[in-house]
Amino acid sequence: MRYRIHLCTRNGRDAYPAPDVRALMERVAGTYVLAGINLEIESLVRFDYEGCQPFYEDRAFPQFSLQQTPRGVIPVVFVSRIPSLVAPFPIGGYASFGGISVNGQLHDLIITHELGHFFGLAHTHDCFYGREQLDRCEETGDLLCDTPPDRGPAGATTTSTAGPLPPTASCACERAGGTSGRPCSS
Ligand SMILES: [Zn+2]
Repeated sequence: MRYRIHLCTRNGRDAYPAPDVRALMERVAGTYVLAGINLEIESLVRFDYEGCQPFYEDRAFPQFSLQQTPRGVIPVVFVSRIPSLVAPFPIGGYASFGGISVNGQLHDLIITHELGHFFGLAHTHDCFYGREQLDRCEETGDLLCDTPPDRGPAGATTTSTAGPLPPTASCACERAGGTSGRPCSS
């Protein structure tokens, strides 16, 4: 599959050096090859966005990059930072199934993670289909039986300095910016 890099610029400066972004995507592609998915760059394009800091809740933001990407090509967006109204910390990235991947850091694990959502993977602690039950692992949790039941990121509330996270924060990844919004219930 081909992907198009959408690199944010502010005041004529790229949010990240373009060669670094290309190199990162090649490393990520090296991981996906192990899963039988060939990721090849289609192009790198730039777009202007004030401050390169779109809010996680700004559902209009990813639409622009989606519209600027040919069908069948994965839009992979790089911005400086993704502040959020619901989480007391910037969001590393978000993605939607078959839609788009938006990333607020230049980090191999984050891009690999978000592309996983693009290809349809849920979090291991996903609760849209209810908390995972061992004897019903194909229809609860992340719907995968080769990942053990996961109650979510332990310690996420205790490490926060801004109080407890809202109950949906740990599985809010797919909710913004995508075509496949999947609300979570606890
Ligand atoms: Zn995620």
